Parts: sequence; C-alpha cells; structure tokens
Amino acid sequence: MAKSGKTEKDLPIAIIGGGPAGLSAAMAAVKKYKNVVIYDKNPQPAKKISAITNGPLMVAEKLEPEGFEEIYGDKYSFIAPALKSYGWKEITAQLKEMGIKVSPNGKKNLSIESKYLKKLGHLFIKSAESEGIVYKKSSRVTDLEISRGKVKSVVVNGITRPVSAVIVACGSYSSPKSGSTKDGYAFAEKAGHEIVKIKPAFVGLETKERYGKILNGVEVRDCLIRVSLDDELQFVDRGKLKFTSYGLSGKIILDNSAKIIELLERGEVKIHMDQVPDLSKFEINKFLNQEFPHTDRTTLFEHLNPYLPDGLLEMMDKIVRVHSSRPVAFLSSLEKKHIMLWLKDFPFTIKGPRPFNETRGVLGGVALDDIDPETMRSNKIKNLYFAGEVLDLLGPWGGYNFEMAFSTGRLAGLSAAADDGAGKKK
Ligand SMILES: Cc1cc2nc3c(=O)[nH]c(=O)nc-3n(C[C@H](O)[C@H](O)[C@H](O)COP(=O)(O)OP(=O)(O)OC[C@H]3O[C@@H](n4cnc5c(N)ncnc54)[C@H](O)[C@@H]3O)c2cc1C
Repeated sequence: MAKSGKTEKDLPIAIIGGGPAGLSAAMAAVKKYKNVVIYDKNPQPAKKISAITNGPLMVAEKLEPEGFEEIYGDKYSFIAPALKSYGWKEITAQLKEMGIKVSPNGKKNLSIESKYLKKLGHLFIKSAESEGIVYKKSSRVTDLEISRGKVKSVVVNGITRPVSAVIVACGSYSSPKSGSTKDGYAFAEKAGHEIVKIKPAFVGLETKERYGKILNGVEVRDCLIRVSLDDELQFVDRGKLKFTSYGLSGKIILDNSAKIIELLERGEVKIHMDQVPDLSKFEINKFLNQEFPHTDRTTLFEHLNPYLPDGLLEMMDKIVRVHSSRPVAFLSSLEKKHIMLWLKDFPFTIKGPRPFNETRGVLGGVALDDIDPETMRSNKIKNLYFAGEVLDLLGPWGGYNFEMAFSTGRLAGLSAAADDGAGKKK
C-alpha cells in the first residue's frame, strides 16, 4: 500500500518529459494501463522539435533494422529490439494517426515539413489527451524518491506524487535553450547508473584561422574534407560546407562533428578542404600551365565560377593573395602554386565545438550497460525505465535520433505497463 492509501496498481506511470520519447512511451503504455501521466517542465510541449525553424524534421530513414548494425556499431545490440519492434513504418503510421504528415525527403529519409512543426506541440497534447493520457505542462520533476530498490514517488514542482513506475524521457542536454536539462542524468545517477561524459555533437566547429569576417555565410555545395589528427589522416567525407563567423558549419561539419570532437581529445585536428574534388591536381596544373593566346583575358573568377561560389572567389585575394579578377594567362608560377594549394588543400585547425546551446545532439548520456534492451528497464531499480536521447545513444544525422526516441519510448511504455514494478504482470 502506498502512502496515499492507494494500491500500487492505482498509481500512475509517471513519464518525465513529453518529447518524442515520452509521448511514444505514454501512447504505448496507455493501451494496457489507464493511469499514465506525462510531466514536462516546459509550458510549450515538444519544444525542441517544434523549434526547428530552418528545415524539415527528419523522423526516420527507410532502413530495415539490420541496416542499423553498421550505424550503431557495438551499440546495435542495445537498440535492435526497439527498432525491430517499431521501425520507420510503424512510426510513420503513428504520426499519421496523430494528424502529422510525413513525406519522403530524398531517397531514404522521411520528414515532417516545417509548416507542421509549429503545430506539433498542440498535436502531441491532443493525441495524448484523446487516449486518456494526462499531459502536465510547466511541471518540472526535481527528484525521484527511491526506497528498497523501487521509485516510490516523483517530486513535481515541489509536490510529492506517488507512482507505480517511472520512465525517464528527459532528453539530452543538447540545445538547452529549447528546454533541455541535465535532470535525466541526475535521476539516473541517483538510481545508481553511470553517466558517460556528455559532449556536444551535431554542431559547428570553431577554427584557429579567422576567415569569419570575410567568408561568413558562404556555402560550398560540394567539397571533400580530409580530417587529420596530428597530421595523420583519419577519415574523408564529401558534401556541403558553410563558412561561419566562428569557423565551419554546414551538413558535412554537423555530420562529422561528434567524430572530430572525440579526436580533439587526442591531439591537433585539422580539416583539409578540397574545394574542387572533381578536378585532379594534374588537371588543374594542366589548365594553369597551358599556352594561352596573348589576347586571352579570361579571369580566374570566370574559370573557377562553375566550381566555387562567388563569395569565396571575391575574397580569394585575402586568402591566397591572388585576385580573382586576374587573367589566368598572366599568373606567375608562385601564384599558380598558391592557387593549386588553396583549391586542393585549404587547411583549418580546429579549436573546438560551439557551445551546447547550438548542438542538435550530444555524445554520452545514461550508460547502456545497466539497462535491459528488451524492456528499457533499469537493472538497478525495478520500476524505472529510460527512453530517448537521455541514453548514451546517438545516431547520425537524418532522422535516426527521432526514430530512436520513438522506438525506445514505445518499448519502455509497453514494458512499464506490463509490469507492476516488481517483475509481476499487472
Ligand atoms: C535544432 C535541432 C534540430 C534537430 N533535427 C533533428 C532531425 O531532423 N531529426 C532527428 O532525428 N533529430 C533531430 N534533432 C534531435 C531531436 O530533436 C531529438 O533526438 C529528440 O527530440 C529526442 O527526443 P527525446 O524525447 O528523447 O528528448 P526531447 O525532445 O529533448 O524531450 C525531452 C523533454 O523532457 C523535458 N524535461 C527535461 N527535464 C525535465 C524535468 N526535470 N521534468 C519534466 N520535464 C523535463 C523537456 O522539456 C523536453 O520536452 C534535432 C535537434 C535540434 C536541437
């Protein structure tokens, strides 16, 4: 019998956090257990995903669970049961049921268009309430009261609320301006779980070279980056890069930032940018050193414009000390050497990541070792579950993290509803 006089069976399953993981957990749990409450500290529900203003929210990739093995590496065995029971097809169907349209984005990605994002919070609450879930906004959980290996209650806005089970779906510390906290890590630690140190991910990188003033906003649509650690090549990637006031951003940087941030702990990291990956050094040499007719006044700008953005070419003299208005026919051999280097090997020394407020994910979180992947249940506390980005799981860019939050949330919800916290079926 709980303090309130209610039996454990009458008490709610409390879900801390009403983002994708928390909502998915609640929607699954309420099918089997009628008393489900979501507490979210924000006055605006699903704030993080609703706040995405500059692009669609990618929610999944059309990939069967086996395809995730390469992506998650040694963490695949943890995420596999969740993804196998609830993959992109089920997530798409669930969102459709909630009135949220998911459309293909490219060949493999599925996304929610920006125009729906503003309504997401409203649709989250509407869907929850239509299933009988209580969604409490502006309700911050500050503590878990644990006794004899079980969570007895949660403290919400200073008031103790007895519970039958708790699902921690507080998200990660990414983008704290959208409401993220470190509370989930504190709850996990209190329950005896280890926290893998958190570090920024999906974030721009500050560079020692200061081209920000002249190149801020310039985007190179297709470049190749070679990333080195103490001058030793680590990996290569190709894609879109954007110069910013502080250094580098754009998809290729956001995608690789987590790997680069890990490398930074081991030494000096440089990004060598090949701005014209489709032109070999041989081809560039041949072009620069050909015999031009005396009358040929075609400028560097005109020749390079099909490959490089205007903004970059206009600033060329400030970087390589050769003005792009110079006719190629009149370049000195030293100038040609500088141009070649700049085109094929524009180097940047990485100082570090931008702050957490600019991140779209984090590395680290609640260690996976003490969580049962079949149920998302804590191995330390009988009626405690974890779901979503609070876990030490980070997928690549492209909808993997939303998918992970939704699928682990569902598993946690189903498990919490099927268990009275002592391992017995309700
Ligand atoms: C700018 C940006 C763009 C992104 N784009 C994509 C994308 O396109 N595709 C993709 O897959 N992922 C994307 N992400 C990541 C995605 O938002 C997360 O993976 C996802 O939101 C994680 O869901 P979650 O439910 O685990 O956590 P969250 O969405 O962070 O939800 C956690 C909730 O818990 C609440 N909370 C925290 N502490 C407490 C507490 N103590 N008490 C009560 N409530 C609490 C918070 O208010 C929050 O609502 C993006 C992130 C950002 C910042």
